Amino acid sequence: MKKLSIKAKVTLWYTALVFLLIVVLLGDLFYFSSRVLYERAGESLSRVVEAAAGQVHFERGELDEREIGFYADGVSVFLYDDQGRRLAPRSGSGPKVNALLEDGVLKSSQDGGERWLVYDRYTQIDGVSLWIRGVTPDTGFSGPLGTMLLLALIASPFLLLIAAGGGYLITKRAFLPIEHMIGTVRSISGGNDLSRRIGGSGAKDEIARLGGTFDEMFDRLQTSFEDEKRFTSDASHELRTPAAIILSQCEYALEDEKSASELRESVRVILRQAKRMNSLIARLLLLARADNGRLQPEFEEVDLGELCAVVCEELEPSAKQEGLTLHQEIEGQVALTADQTLLMRLVTNLLSNAIRYNRPGGSVTLCLRTEGENALLSVRDTGIGIAPEHLPKIFGRFYRADAARTAERGGTGLGLSIVRSIAQVHGGSVEAQSTLGEGSDFTVTLPLRREENPGVCEPD
Ligand code: ADP
Repeated sequence: MKKLSIKAKVTLWYTALVFLLIVVLLGDLFYFSSRVLYERAGESLSRVVEAAAGQVHFERGELDEREIGFYADGVSVFLYDDQGRRLAPRSGSGPKVNALLEDGVLKSSQDGGERWLVYDRYTQIDGVSLWIRGVTPDTGFSGPLGTMLLLALIASPFLLLIAAGGGYLITKRAFLPIEHMIGTVRSISGGNDLSRRIGGSGAKDEIARLGGTFDEMFDRLQTSFEDEKRFTSDASHELRTPAAIILSQCEYALEDEKSASELRESVRVILRQAKRMNSLIARLLLLARADNGRLQPEFEEVDLGELCAVVCEELEPSAKQEGLTLHQEIEGQVALTADQTLLMRLVTNLLSNAIRYNRPGGSVTLCLRTEGENALLSVRDTGIGIAPEHLPKIFGRFYRADAARTAERGGTGLGLSIVRSIAQVHGGSVEAQSTLGEGSDFTVTLPLRREENPGVCEPD
């Protein structure tokens, strides 16, 4: 049974049910019809016997047969004396039934290869004791009822066949979407074509919902596979450029005679590229740890106001160099439980971006305040801004709104991913608002008190 398909199981179940129904119905029909027939025959027998009793007379001990109806409504009447000897009719015609005489009992008797229904009545008429017996053929189911039962019995196997066939076809139809689903899933896993979808049938049943859920899962899988592919290719591309520069500088330095200053310049270039690679690898490692849940912040009491002031002080020279003014709006003391090093990196990334993507004469404003149970840190700039189509994607890895301009400004496309991961491991979040050509505003929300289960990092 375990090896049968659901279609076969459902069909078997319905067929068995129909079979049981037919057996019960026919059984009931047979039982109740035979009872009705038996009772009707009994009534007719007793009526004829009673009528005959009213017609029996004895004159001076001699039976007067003239008025007795010995045959009525298919019932033959016989009279016996109290010794069981037949009194009338005297001729030997009529059914020969040798059943025992029993007063008021309706019984069935087999005589001469035929079945009879017999009813006896013991009575006293004109001082003579006698038995009056009514006998009628026991037709049983040989009449129209029998024909009906026979027809029902003949029809039963056909009914069973129709039930089984119909049930199988209906379940087969009902399972068609599942067959389609199996086919699609097989072609996805066999052909590695993640773009295929099951698609809805328009119905709102469970199977359609299952198909929809599979499609959502394939959407997520496709996005995550594509992200992973893009991430690997972006990461190799990012590492390839400095590696190529280092290689070419090394080859150049080893060529012919080189002056000491030329060699120093080559080493400087190599050092710059090595630092770039080192920083890129460190960033990638941090993101990988955050994805695997292995980025374990070292929580301690941090004065976020002081931390922001320190970062601002560090970045002040580069802001000045770009002709920018750096403002701080820190409301009171904002103390929270967090990882100081990670928060420092978060603030640095946001402020560096605000400086990097600004315009000469522009400004950068860092605001810090508490709101309820959270610290709100926002970094606002009057820079180049981000176009609306790029805004939802800027937290993605290696995503650059304006690749040429970003590369020119030394960006790697990982800064905001790191900001988001750091906010998430602290149970917080980050949002960006921006108007192209006017400036951007990045707001980080961080809970003041550490939660037991800080937010899980969502890989892009
Ligand atoms: P990057 O290292 O390239 O700056 P980020 O992840 O920090 O990488 O930023 C992703 C992209 O978002 C940047 O390439 C840039 O196009 C855009 N961006 C980030 N911050 C700002 C900002 N303050 N103003 C304008 N564009 C920004």
